[in-house]
Amino acid sequence: MGGDNCIFCKIIEGKIPSRKVYEDEEMLAFHDINPAAPIHFLVIPKKHLPMLCDASSEDTQLLGKIMLKIPELAIQEGANPGQTGGFKILMNNGAEGGQEVYHMHLHVLAGKRLGNQQL
Ligand code: 5GP
Repeated sequence: MGGDNCIFCKIIEGKIPSRKVYEDEEMLAFHDINPAAPIHFLVIPKKHLPMLCDASSEDTQLLGKIMLKIPELAIQEGANPGQTGGFKILMNNGAEGGQEVYHMHLHVLAGKRLGNQQL
């Protein structure tokens, strides 16, 4: 199930330490090692999907679950609620999309007014 030499699979397996935000049987959220905002964590499926483009219809429920969990986790980590608060979700997909780690992940950023963020 895991990708060979995938650092995020190693984080899932506990072989590389991380500061966990949330974990269940299907997903993991952990703080980014190089935060680009006061709150910056990554949310990943435990299933090794290198990129969003590798997901298929059988992943619909998994990806929906991840997306719907993010608001709760953002507030838990300190994002201000409501329309005056908020957070940003980013996903880099492929080299030209700025992706560096090929285990699909969503960046969640919060804690300041965010502009057109590039990661
Ligand atoms: P990408 O450019 O692929 O969308 O982003 C990968 C992200 O993973 C980067 O923001 C980077 O700081 C983060 N990252 C890379 N290696 C590690 C690691 O070993 N631990 C943690 N917590 N984050 C990592």
